[in-house]
Amino acid sequence: MPRTYVVDAGALFSTWTKRVGEGVFSTTTDVVDEIRNRPSKFRADLLEVLDRLREEAPPTDSINAARRAATETGDDSILSETDIELIALAHSKRQDGSSIVLVSTDLAVLNTARHMGIETVDPSGKFKDDIKWVSICPACGHRSVASKAGLECPVCGTPMRRRVFKKGRK
Ligand SMILES: [Zn+2]
Repeated sequence: MPRTYVVDAGALFSTWTKRVGEGVFSTTTDVVDEIRNRPSKFRADLLEVLDRLREEAPPTDSINAARRAATETGDDSILSETDIELIALAHSKRQDGSSIVLVSTDLAVLNTARHMGIETVDPSGKFKDDIKWVSICPACGHRSVASKAGLECPVCGTPMRRRVFKKGRK
């Protein structure tokens, strides 16, 4: 069975897709719209890829599962609706028994997808296990630099949320 690659705009604008000889690309309507709004030079470069690109909508239960996972990782405040739908699409494909890889350059997307057990690829190569994390207490706002998920806040005992420590995010 050919692999399915669920891709975001960042992945499509990288050269990564051109290196994938086999497999099917799948993405959401929002991502396709984002590409259509780019200058035509970008689209021309992507023509071959767009030819192999399926536009799909994730089912509601997968969207809910992606939202739950994002809450668990602490990425929920960072992820856009487009991001959540992309993760949900990968989740639904896997539920269908597809061999699936989510391809994104967004660290929060990659983090939440991995939390759900979805295989991921980061074309930019920035997503590594040694990226910096920060844990934030949702109750009292205490922050600590910690690499483990599921820590309790040392101030008030509330389970802390973990997120990628990175400046300049959207
Ligand atoms: Zn606290």
